[in-house]
Amino acid sequence: MAEGGMYSHEHDEMDECVQALARIHAFLHHELLEADADMIRHHLHACERCMENFEIESTITEMIQRSQPTTSAPSTLTARIQTLRITRKG
Ligand SMILES: [Zn+2]
Repeated sequence: MAEGGMYSHEHDEMDECVQALARIHAFLHHELLEADADMIRHHLHACERCMENFEIESTITEMIQRSQPTTSAPSTLTARIQTLRITRKG
């Protein structure tokens, strides 16, 4: 057990995954800064689990964008996405 706080300085792999997954939606909507987007791309290539999650999210986003003109996206879904963002930011 490491002493001196809850941060382990070994390899924050889990933390990177959490950060990458928290930003996947912003990434898919091209709302990230170039540097942040690069960081996620880099992580996805290095992390199979996150890549899997990303592909699922990416497929869902694409399906929504293809089947629904952006102007008439279901309000329930839009609300859900906004709620998600707010929750993850906080
Ligand atoms: Zn990861």
